[in-house]
Amino acid sequence: MDNCIFCKIANGEIPSATLYEDEDFRVILDVNPAAKGHALILPKAHAANIFELPDDKLQKAALLAKKVAAKLKDGLNCDGVNVLQNNGSAAGQTVYHFHMHLIPRREGDNLGLLWKPGKLTDEDRLDILEHCSL
Ligand code: 5GP
Ligand code: ZN
Repeated sequence: MDNCIFCKIANGEIPSATLYEDEDFRVILDVNPAAKGHALILPKAHAANIFELPDDKLQKAALLAKKVAAKLKDGLNCDGVNVLQNNGSAAGQTVYHFHMHLIPRREGDNLGLLWKPGKLTDEDRLDILEHCSL
């Protein structure tokens, strides 16, 4: 992908603050962090989103997220870590190269990443179970 900024960063064509690199991934610091230590896991091979990412890479990304989250928690002595991943503009994706966010959290930091809880209605429950059960 010639015009993909994360392809260029992941493959070292554009320098980045790198926490980890292997043949498949680069883990970088987000340039506009939600919190100190906000990191991004980028696959080196372009995939726009979770649907395009091959299963073996997704498995590796999940294991890497666990390692990076543990290191951030330890290294920054924070209270928790959000692991987030957006697919599509409606879901907040702004860079269309798969990435996982790791966001260190502290009690009371009020980052506002969470949603206002709704109510699961009978109608929705039936609709979802009918159309989305695997
Ligand atoms: P999204 O909204 O697509 O899930 O997240 C994109 C993330 O990439 C944002 O948190 C944004 O700050 C980060 N980002 C965008 N461009 C760059 C860049 O050039 N370098 C780095 N390090 N992060 C970037
Ligand atoms: Zn890309």
